[in-house]
Amino acid sequence: MNKILEIKNLSVCVNDKKILKNVNLSIENGQIHAIMGPNGSGKSTLSYTLMGMPGYKINDGQIFFNGQIINNLSVNLRAKMGLFLAFQNPYEIEGLSIRTFLRAAYNSLYLGTDKELDFDQFEEYLQTKVKQLSINPEFLKRSLNVGFSGGEKKRLEVLQLSVLQPKLIILDEIDSGLDVDALRDVCTAVDQIRRDSPEISIIVITHYPRILKYLKPDFVHIMQDGAIINSSDISLAEKIEQEGY
Ligand code: ADP
Ligand code: MG
Repeated sequence: MNKILEIKNLSVCVNDKKILKNVNLSIENGQIHAIMGPNGSGKSTLSYTLMGMPGYKINDGQIFFNGQIINNLSVNLRAKMGLFLAFQNPYEIEGLSIRTFLRAAYNSLYLGTDKELDFDQFEEYLQTKVKQLSINPEFLKRSLNVGFSGGEKKRLEVLQLSVLQPKLIILDEIDSGLDVDALRDVCTAVDQIRRDSPEISIIVITHYPRILKYLKPDFVHIMQDGAIINSSDISLAEKIEQEGY
């Protein structure tokens, strides 16, 4: 099987503070890996570093994506390669409609490739995605995340990844602030995306085992104080639920 992501001995500083310490992680195509850990343990730092957010300085180690070192690549190049981060707290942008945003994002990834779609083709494609995820098409006219409930914001993150078709998805606490019904909807939508593209790989960052009951990760890793201190199968998440970190 092909490795989509390999992290080797990764150490990262933010504002001169060492946050990640010697992180190793290897993910194959089609696998789901969960990362759990207490608040402040470095989970979001890992996702921002993978995505290439400015200010997250790699002091040591390598990140390989699809066999290529991406340590110094910009966010947009990483996105073009197929990396997608669903935000823990999605940004709100007044005046930018979801439809326009999604079309611009899709074009920036696929213009000039065999996935290029013209205006009408994109609209048709968007409508099938919206229908598949049971999202009201009226939603597409609204400004990006402005006035959205927590559940709606997360639903929009899922619509984005369904439209943009990344190879590796990082879900950073997509379950935070969701009630049971909204969580089930989001997980059903992620499942649908996996059925459409079984080779897609997912990193699920969470505090709570309940999302893992839906998404069924192949591996569960525990992060503490910037390091992965334990890795096992889903039984580890159940143990955490009973015993704490
Ligand atoms: P988690 O997502 O696991 O809750 P974070 O990655 O957000 O953890 O944070 C890890 C540590 O890094 C925390 O101690 C946090 O205070 C620190 N940290 C995160 N972002 C910054 C920043 N921009 N400047 C300084 N410290 C930061
Ligand atoms: Mg976090």
